[in-house]
Amino acid sequence: MDIKLISDKPKCFCGVFGIAGSPTASLETYYGLHSLQHRGQEACGIVTRDVNESGKSVFHIHKGEGLVSEVFEDSNILSNTLKGFAAIGHNRYSTTGSSNSRKNIQPFVVNYRMGNLAVAHNGNLTNAKILRTELINEGAIFQTTSDTEVILHLIARSRLNDQVEQIQEAISKIEGAYSLVILTDDKLIAARDSHGFRPLSIGRHNDSFIIASETCAFDLLSAEFVREVEPGELVVIDNETLETGKIKSFFFDDIVPVKKHCVFEYIYFSRPDSFIFGHNVDKMRRRLGKVLARNHPVLNENDEKVIVISVPDSSNTTALGYQTELEKIGVDCKLEIGLIRSHYIGRTFIQPGQGKREIGVRIKFNTVKGVLEGRTVVIVDDSIVRGTTSKQLVKLIREANPLSIHFRISSPPITHPCYYGMDFPSKDELIAYKYQSDIKEIGKYLGVDSLEYLTTEEMLEAVSEAGTDNFCHACFSGKYPTPVDLSFKKEIYEV
Ligand code: SF4
Repeated sequence: MDIKLISDKPKCFCGVFGIAGSPTASLETYYGLHSLQHRGQEACGIVTRDVNESGKSVFHIHKGEGLVSEVFEDSNILSNTLKGFAAIGHNRYSTTGSSNSRKNIQPFVVNYRMGNLAVAHNGNLTNAKILRTELINEGAIFQTTSDTEVILHLIARSRLNDQVEQIQEAISKIEGAYSLVILTDDKLIAARDSHGFRPLSIGRHNDSFIIASETCAFDLLSAEFVREVEPGELVVIDNETLETGKIKSFFFDDIVPVKKHCVFEYIYFSRPDSFIFGHNVDKMRRRLGKVLARNHPVLNENDEKVIVISVPDSSNTTALGYQTELEKIGVDCKLEIGLIRSHYIGRTFIQPGQGKREIGVRIKFNTVKGVLEGRTVVIVDDSIVRGTTSKQLVKLIREANPLSIHFRISSPPITHPCYYGMDFPSKDELIAYKYQSDIKEIGKYLGVDSLEYLTTEEMLEAVSEAGTDNFCHACFSGKYPTPVDLSFKKEIYEV
């Protein structure tokens, strides 16, 4: 029987990429999406803009379910089907078993009175339900259950005659989190919500301009990072931009951008080699680890060295920060590789009969017994969602006979849902909600000798510039930076 390997980590809905001014736009988009694969592994797609024999702009599209390497396995797709000098692409995560999965794969393309238009979106609109109902009442017919289609309808139904103004008008109606890339017959457009929930950056490679969710996509292409798209900014790259190098930028007169970046991007989601929200993710993860060590140290037992290990790969940098700081405050300690992660597992695996979770964890991780046996072990992890995987991991480590096991988490307990594009399981499944954030009880459930999390204040101390409050932390604190539609159902409005 095939089982899906379930990861007990929050899932981000998407990663986006766009390029203009390159004769190999589809190939670069393919590489870009590959480097953004961590932002969505269920499906992906690329749309290119080409010119036909009569000089008319035409869009080509290819999308499908699976990893980028699977969907674009046939290299003819990139070289023959997806021709053109401009392209946008999208990686998506979908809810397992979604019946509308294929239809919801982005980018979405329409042909309307102003020509072709393709959109790819990372985030989640908090007023999608209201807008969708309004549009349906006005006669709009929806093909998907995605909130991104709402944006397309808003643009296509605009009475204005300038496409950038149409997009601006549509954007003025949507609320929530969005980092968008839009391809028209003569422009590549990028837009970011006024809180800047999700990252979005501009890069340059030779004569082409690139937009990507994370800067790691630029590195793969040897592109240079230009700057981030600012919260509340709309950026236009057209032929004039390609000729002069000047990016056109628009801000809304009536919207004052207030930064509320998703702190989870620093904690877990973005790649450590990316630069987002004005900082290297690697630096922020180290800082989270340092603050964790300062406030929640594990001290030596019986004068033995404390062994610090990470849950690879997302916690590696945090563990490094934790151990460095622990040493600084006088604890004799050593960073060790105590868990080996298999990199050769797919998304499903044959299950011969044991409990799904247990075999899932064993397929993914094994211990290096020699470094754990008889030692005081600190496991540094970025977050605990359901706790089921962590419990199996602790069981696995226990089999290596350590003296004691201490769990240190570089984020606070997750107690609330995210309305801005990160997918957590339902409230009842969250371990912190189940145990009413009683950390001792959660520790007992996990089977550890001690468990400690960062508090919200400690987390913000690690990631914020002094005196600023630039982050959304609603999934930990319940303080949503925007009004949210509490009747929102993710199974209806999945991206
Ligand atoms: S609620 Fe949590 S995951 Fe969602 S945007 Fe805010 S910090 Fe990020």
